[in-house]
Amino acid sequence: MLVAGNWKMNTDVPEGRALADAIAEGLSSTAADRGDVDFLVCPPYVHLPAVREALADVPVAVGAQDMHAQDEGAYTGDVSAPMLSSIGCDAVILGHSERRTYYDETDAEVNAKAQQARAHDLVPIVCVGETLEQRKAGEADTVVRSQVDGALSDVSIDGADELIVAYEPIWAIGTGESAAAEQAQAMHAVIRDDLRERYGGDVADEVPLLYGGSMKPHNAYGLLSQPDIDGGLIGSASLEAESFLGIAEKA
Ligand code: 13P
Repeated sequence: MLVAGNWKMNTDVPEGRALADAIAEGLSSTAADRGDVDFLVCPPYVHLPAVREALADVPVAVGAQDMHAQDEGAYTGDVSAPMLSSIGCDAVILGHSERRTYYDETDAEVNAKAQQARAHDLVPIVCVGETLEQRKAGEADTVVRSQVDGALSDVSIDGADELIVAYEPIWAIGTGESAAAEQAQAMHAVIRDDLRERYGGDVADEVPLLYGGSMKPHNAYGLLSQPDIDGGLIGSASLEAESFLGIAEKA
């Protein structure tokens, strides 16, 4: 199980540091047996060093929310994979629907970034998901499959710990309306099949498939008990240590 937080463009640096401190405190003070739960938080870029430091003594990995596909150069405002690696970043979210929507990011760009992430030892967290219109039109499976194929073309991995895929139906993000557990499971099974064709069963069966979209402590158990849902990519509920760790309790 992997419980991951995507803070998006929220909190200033002191607030982010306080949130990371609260997560570290919650993890080290609780007596609850967390078994096999792994943790990851993805704060804004400028928070990364402070958050990494705050979480140094607890098993929480740190990721970025995006990156550029090139190593360096005249790309004002962008951040590269070598920069992220150099501060001990473990993972990077790629192709989030908010990047696809607001920055017209294409599958080809997500693919270039995923290859670049692997070249610099960052675990790509590839996000896929359909709109409500696509779901209503019966196109959800096709859309998601083509996003997975587009993002992962020529992305080779040596083991299941080198890739994460997050299914985030766009209609469930930030709406308070999560996908039903069975609905999410059905799509995760489609993604798992696709990964099996690409990487073989041994690897694909172990690649963490996260569900994202209005996951909260109250609905986490139903989602996380599905066979192909291996964790959550949590937006607003990751902005409070209590709800973030509350979801981990269900995991
Ligand atoms: P919410 O949990 O706020 O719906 O956001 C989900 C998400 O987009 C995580 O990447």
